[in-house]
Amino acid sequence: MDHKFQDEGKTIYDFIYEFYVKCPQCEKFAVVKSFPDEKGSFLFYEKRSLICGFCGFIKVYKNSPGIIGSDYPLWLESNCCGEKLWAYNLEHLEYIERFVYASIREGYCDEHGWKNNSMVSRLPKWIKNGKNRDEILRCIEKMRRSVPEKARA
Ligand SMILES: [Zn+2]
Repeated sequence: MDHKFQDEGKTIYDFIYEFYVKCPQCEKFAVVKSFPDEKGSFLFYEKRSLICGFCGFIKVYKNSPGIIGSDYPLWLESNCCGEKLWAYNLEHLEYIERFVYASIREGYCDEHGWKNNSMVSRLPKWIKNGKNRDEILRCIEKMRRSVPEKARA
């Protein structure tokens, strides 16, 4: 059976509204939420909050510097096929999963033509390589199970 993946043209910025990290205090699962700027964009977010549901650690950042996810190690990070597989959150992980799962992958096309800046079109070659498919899907499943139940709602 053929499974089709349609690239929705999502970019990496469509996923950074929320990302999972290791809590700096207890090293368990914590969530960083980004607040959009006044234009509603997450690209140059000014404010983020880190909340850990395990030890209660809370930190609010204003004008947080640096690129997303660089402050703390990402929770969804795994060695896979000798490479590093990572995702910001479950939506991101499951989007990658749908892509890897699909045997037919269709690009994203709008009125300006085919896009090549979508998150999927920029995935590294090893993720797109069909021979890595089964191992990547296994890694993704493991990563998904590492997310606490209460974060999956
Ligand atoms: Zn904690």
